[in-house]
Amino acid sequence: MPAESESFGDSGAALPRLPAVLAAVLEAYLAFDTTGRVLAWNPAAETTFGYTSAQACGRSVEELIVQPEARDAARAELAALASGLPGQTQDRRLQWAAWHADGYVVPIEMTMTATDEPTGRVFHVLAHDITTTQRASRFAATEAAVTRGLAEADSSATAAARVVEALGVKMGWPVTELWVVDDDRQLLNCVARYAHTGRRLHDFAVDTLEPGITLPGRVCADGTAHWIPDLGADTRSPRSRAAARIGLRVAIGVPLCAAGRTIGALCVYGDRVEDPEDILLGLFSGLAAQIGQYVERRRAEELAIELARTKDEFLAMVTHELRNPLAAITGTVTLLQEAFDDLTHDEQRHYLNIVTRNAERLSVMADDLLDLARLESGHLAINPTSTDLCAIIRQAVDAASTAADKDLTITTQLPEQLELHADPDRLRQVADNLVSNAVKYTPAGGTITITAALDDTDRNITWSVTDTGIGIPAAERPRLFRRFYRASSALDRRIPGTGLGLVIARTIIERHQGTITLSDHDGPGTTFTIEIPIKPK
Ligand code: ADP
Repeated sequence: MPAESESFGDSGAALPRLPAVLAAVLEAYLAFDTTGRVLAWNPAAETTFGYTSAQACGRSVEELIVQPEARDAARAELAALASGLPGQTQDRRLQWAAWHADGYVVPIEMTMTATDEPTGRVFHVLAHDITTTQRASRFAATEAAVTRGLAEADSSATAAARVVEALGVKMGWPVTELWVVDDDRQLLNCVARYAHTGRRLHDFAVDTLEPGITLPGRVCADGTAHWIPDLGADTRSPRSRAAARIGLRVAIGVPLCAAGRTIGALCVYGDRVEDPEDILLGLFSGLAAQIGQYVERRRAEELAIELARTKDEFLAMVTHELRNPLAAITGTVTLLQEAFDDLTHDEQRHYLNIVTRNAERLSVMADDLLDLARLESGHLAINPTSTDLCAIIRQAVDAASTAADKDLTITTQLPEQLELHADPDRLRQVADNLVSNAVKYTPAGGTITITAALDDTDRNITWSVTDTGIGIPAAERPRLFRRFYRASSALDRRIPGTGLGLVIARTIIERHQGTITLSDHDGPGTTFTIEIPIKPK
């Protein structure tokens, strides 16, 4: 019904028609009587509150534009105003959360005035939607809180906590998370999570995720923003279902990028989305870029510290690792020089063996250091040719069995042969490292098992070395493939080593487009697994 045909007042009691100016203004205009019955409703009110004039006129105003939980209070206010009391709302400019026909909150700024008409008192409301202004100030407050959080944080952990809190508090998202990819294990770690007070997260609150099907996993896998409009319907992801079970409906994730690659994801979960998708994604992407820059800056600082530490560790290691075999060689040679003629043949052979063993240790170390230097300068040469992995493994096992002077059972489960296009010398290096580590870190009486076979696709070989030895504490496993890193289980037992073999092994396997991983183990022992393609592309 056009606004001009509206009239105020009780049925039959003619009141002035809605003046043309009120039909034309951009402000929402509505009028109601002392019982709350709507008498007038202009076109702007139709847009603001979602009811047409025909739907609104005659109905009670609190039913139309007051949030369900605030209706009793609104009725009491109207009763007060109707009986001539001052009330809280009349003759003031107010900001108020109104209710839209589609069941969501519309923030408005409004004034309410009253006139005395022949039929009684009439209340007039003029209002305008302030969603955009409120959003702009909410976004600005969020951006400011994130910037301040990043600037004032004294560690990455505090910075992450502040970012998720800013998003949760300022933007009203009930759950917000920051995920970062762990380079070593290719897993995602939740580095900060914020949840509204009293919100119980149950099995949604996991701290580690595999890349792939979950929201952070998807964002990190393809480096783009993802929007899940209905978590309950996202049946692919058990975590989305866990979110739906605790009342979360929608989720948004944006990638965090540093130095041109995706390093993690910023994810928010909520009950509903009040802001338009593109505007929200714009805000999140801006925040994610800020966090990315922060992470990059922090990484550079941490790298500088790490480098200084590595140099110290390197010097300590070289001094220690060179000194021990050198001391053994000089001590034994001095003894041989002084007492050679008094020693039996067996004793002479025994001492010569000590010299040879220690000289070999030095030579292995020199080779490792050279390989590491080539590796760091990108000059580690790979010369692939048709190669039988089984033959290489057998040679490495024979060499380790001959060298091992302790009681170990070494078993292999290998086919006749496994052909692949690879550098045989480099693969032998990997095999020697894994088998000699297994021997070195397994006490007498233990078992070492080496298996290799084609996988189901017939395109890759899965090769594993398992021992029943001292194992590697779970918390240290992520650091294992770092240069010079030695696990506490090895250090505590004073087993010699340089912490270089695995770094070199990983580089060699990666040059063959394969992967090497340390499998998580229940109980003692260690398993390294290599996946390597038989025909690298
Ligand atoms: P190194 O053995 O010379 O120290 P590596 O790079 O080969 O250097 O190994 C790094 C560390 O990983 C070792 O110092 C040890 O703590 C741990 N490690 C490697 N292999 C095993 C194993 N089979 N069992 C237990 N710990 C191992």
